[in-house]
Amino acid sequence: MNQFDCVVVGGGMVGAASALSLAELGLKVAIIEKSAPAIFSPEQDFDLRVSAISLASEQLLKQLGAWQQLKQWRMCAYKRLGVWEFEQSYTEFNAQDINQTHLGHIVENRLIQLALWQKLQQHSNITLLCPETLINIEQSPTDVKLTLSSETINAKVVIGADGANSFVRKLANIGTTGWDYAQSAMLINVQTEKPQQDITWQQFYPTGPLAMLPMPGNFASLVWYHDKDEIKRLSALSNGNLAQEILQNFPARLGNVEVINKAAFPLTRRHANQYQKGRILLIGDAAHTINPMAGQGVNLGFKDVKALQHVIAKAIGNGESWHEPKVLASYQQKRRTDNLLMMTTMDALYLSFGHVSPLVKLARNAGLMMVNTVPSLKNKALAYACGI
Ligand SMILES: Cc1cc2nc3c(=O)[nH]c(=O)nc-3n(C[C@H](O)[C@H](O)[C@H](O)COP(=O)(O)OP(=O)(O)OC[C@H]3O[C@@H](n4cnc5c(N)ncnc54)[C@H](O)[C@@H]3O)c2cc1C
Repeated sequence: MNQFDCVVVGGGMVGAASALSLAELGLKVAIIEKSAPAIFSPEQDFDLRVSAISLASEQLLKQLGAWQQLKQWRMCAYKRLGVWEFEQSYTEFNAQDINQTHLGHIVENRLIQLALWQKLQQHSNITLLCPETLINIEQSPTDVKLTLSSETINAKVVIGADGANSFVRKLANIGTTGWDYAQSAMLINVQTEKPQQDITWQQFYPTGPLAMLPMPGNFASLVWYHDKDEIKRLSALSNGNLAQEILQNFPARLGNVEVINKAAFPLTRRHANQYQKGRILLIGDAAHTINPMAGQGVNLGFKDVKALQHVIAKAIGNGESWHEPKVLASYQQKRRTDNLLMMTTMDALYLSFGHVSPLVKLARNAGLMMVNTVPSLKNKALAYACGI
């Protein structure tokens, strides 16, 4: 039976980053993934699934050697972030205010995964098992046995990075708390009349925000949050009719738009009650899914990756048994409260902007204006969002 130090289940963005970061510590790592990402070619349309990658996540992707490749493929930096409900409360965050050249990059999820896969396929400490599926996990006090569809392997530690509906979480019998939001999100890739490159913006409405994420050239990823029925109606429209709805409802900052691609996503909040059970750990969306309003989901997952690498590196450095559950427990201590804070902040924003009471409206716009006039508050909020 093949024996590994760590087995990572799920080779998405977070699982692939975790496998690399642990292999860098000299551990023997296997990664299990159901299906490989499609290869890149420059003439491909932009994928619908894109992420706003924070400065902290950029740092991790650089450390793992994936950033250079991503830069050669395609990504779009943004220097400014605009948020408002009414034009008078328009608040703009600028990279210069926190002495940075940019606030983040919009990158396609698949390309982040692919760039990490290129690195892990070259790594002598990593075995990539794909296509492969997890069937069962049995934990003993000394190791974990994983039954896969074509073989059985052993690991000292198993990391569940298998997304929001994590099977590892289920097999480990770890419960979750959470709910489905009343809103859904529609992701729409558009070609715009005007270039959008250096700003990302979000206008809040009681029905949900409208957001624009810039893509290279005259392209943008629009995110339309609304109640489920309205998103269902919009999803059924032809691309031409949807473009008309965008022109009527989105701020007049895009110029004319042509819809290239679209899809709707339900919004859910899930938080695993534990990130650790013995030798089984959860990271990324397997541990937490958050309202995507502030584009923090994968950035939190990358913070998990860093924290886990740090905990294990420290234990190895101190000559401890890095795989003992009591050592692994500090990963949960480092991450669960931080993730909970971010999830709760997002929910407070979601609830506050969904409120139709004129008093609440006044208070939230006054709040935005206050942020605008107190630079220290504004810069603190910005640094937190950028993960620095
Ligand atoms: C509408 C929307 C917009 C978003 N925008 C942003 C944003 O701007 N910025 C941001 O940071 N985040 C954003 N997010 C969140 C972000 O997409 C997720 O946090 C991120 O994709 C999670 O990555 P992951 O690797 O943890 O999980 P996943 O991407 O779900 O990867 C899990 C992997 O595990 C594999 N897998 C699952 N089960 C098994 C199994 N049994 N055996 C083997 N393999 C398995 C899957 O095939 C998959 O590859 C958004 C989310 C939504 C819904």
